[in-house]
Amino acid sequence: MTPAKEVGAKGAAVRLEDVSFSYGEAPFRFDVGFAASKITAIMGPSGSGKSTLLNLVAGFEMPGSGRVLIDGGDVSAAPPSVRPVSMVFQENNLFAHLSVERNVGLGRSPSLSLTDADHAAIADALARVGLAGKERRLPRELSGGERQRVALARVLVRDRPVLLLDEPFASLGPALRDDMLDLLASVHT
Ligand code: ADP
Ligand code: MG
Repeated sequence: MTPAKEVGAKGAAVRLEDVSFSYGEAPFRFDVGFAASKITAIMGPSGSGKSTLLNLVAGFEMPGSGRVLIDGGDVSAAPPSVRPVSMVFQENNLFAHLSVERNVGLGRSPSLSLTDADHAAIADALARVGLAGKERRLPRELSGGERQRVALARVLVRDRPVLLLDEPFASLGPALRDDMLDLLASVHT
């Protein structure tokens, strides 16, 4: 198993080495590498396997054969929680019954036992995504764009070297989507 890197970690290269995967129908095959610290966009028609590829990297799906390497380490059999990866989905990234602050805190501690340093990191991340002052809100009290910002704040406090984004801004309007891409670019930098 590959433990998560320390806070402040840089990017890590991702490689799918002759990976085969099937949901029981036509099999997919992935043989591809992604350089560390670069932004890579994966484009293709609906149903072409983009999410499947991300799920294989994150560990939500396991390869039938072949290997998934992150930073040179074989994570093919590792569960998602120990992979040095964060993922943001199109929606439903948040727990509806938890406040903004606690949703972000889950990125630090799954049991929400948060230290002073954790609380400081959460406040800093919420400020960076423009959500200072909204810590106590529930997800239903936020706009769609704000909810995705909370998901990004959680990614920031996790500080994992690989970030997978599965169309996280697809349901937002064009102006808001541009804002989110700017925010993402600054987070990446
Ligand atoms: P994309 O993200 O490019 O739109 P997906 O990776 O979600 O495509 O899906 C690739 C193919 O696998 C599609 O044909 C889809 O119907 C199928 N598929 C996706 N998830 C499942 C699943 N959980 N069970 C069975 N088939 C699935
Ligand atoms: Mg998809």
